[in-house]
Amino acid sequence: MTEFAILKNIQPQPELVREDIKKDPGFGQYFTDHMAHIRYTNEDGWQAHQVKPYGPLVLDPAAAVFHYAQEIFEGLKAYRHADGSVWTFRPERNATRINRSAERLALPQISEEDFINSLKALVSTDEAWVPTPGTDGDESSLYLRPFMIASERFLGVRASHEVDYYVIASPAGPYFAGGIKPVSIWLSKRLNRAGSGGTGFAKCGGNYASSLLAQKEAADNGCQQVLFTDAEEHKYIDELGGMNLMLVTKDGQLLTPALSDTILDGVTRRSLLDLAPELGLEPVERQLTIDEWREGAASGDIVEAFACGTAAVITPISKLVSDDFTIDHGDTPGEKTMALRKALLDIQYGRVEDTHNWLVRL
Ligand code: PMP
Repeated sequence: MTEFAILKNIQPQPELVREDIKKDPGFGQYFTDHMAHIRYTNEDGWQAHQVKPYGPLVLDPAAAVFHYAQEIFEGLKAYRHADGSVWTFRPERNATRINRSAERLALPQISEEDFINSLKALVSTDEAWVPTPGTDGDESSLYLRPFMIASERFLGVRASHEVDYYVIASPAGPYFAGGIKPVSIWLSKRLNRAGSGGTGFAKCGGNYASSLLAQKEAADNGCQQVLFTDAEEHKYIDELGGMNLMLVTKDGQLLTPALSDTILDGVTRRSLLDLAPELGLEPVERQLTIDEWREGAASGDIVEAFACGTAAVITPISKLVSDDFTIDHGDTPGEKTMALRKALLDIQYGRVEDTHNWLVRL
């Protein structure tokens, strides 16, 4: 196993500041004292595994990432359990996914061992930054953001020969401060996020850059999130800008679009499908159309809708708004939505036995 050298930050943030931040961190605003780093070159592969002080990167202005967006990332969380131990959730799935993204973006593969050890090395160094649920608000965690960038100084358009991988960490509070509020989502018909053969299934920065204008359009129409469909016919449901979509039928089916090259294989999505039978729901992955959702909601066959992802776990959907119709599920989170949410959080926070072996100690 390659050990990470630990270079301690000699100027960590004061304990009082850290404890204050953990009480009300919001999301993605504050960062811990260290970051993990591994350097890659075509000649030597991955080397110089380190945890070092968090701080600005020095990159050449000609580094490929700035020009051709050769970049990928991941997102997962560290959870503190009641006995003080710190765990993460199905990180091997994030390792597999970062390698799928890496392949698509012509970046190097990273071993599952290096990926998981980078999380362990960073979280054990910055353990004091992992919020304690209860003391620091319920549903608080340490959000982990691994990313890989093309750092070669070269303006030719080809895969970079030099790459850097980092992990940074950010304390995260409850996503819904003041209770769970269903969101309304905007159906994007003009702007697409991903097309067949493109990078939709990969977690690369470019996908998010191309979703921002649609997200702005959603906000201009009074919605908090945006739903993307297939780019050709705008008929099939893909996913939201940063979450997968699920529907619950009155007959107890948990419906979600089947994976394709335009949909991100969400760890939360997979886990809810796996948990569904335990809650009396039948998981169904297939193509879903907007028309089917619209008709099902009108007839009473589709009774709940929600979005799911690591950051917010489950976000109930009150409305789907487009320029010519609205689907309305009301402002009360659905019963199955909330049961799934609780089942997943209970496992992540160690409140029930982890019968699936999903938790990995950090
Ligand atoms: N779709 C997109 C586009 C996302 O950015 C995310 C967040 N990673 C998800 C779905 C949900 O994935 P996960 O459950 O692994 O967080």
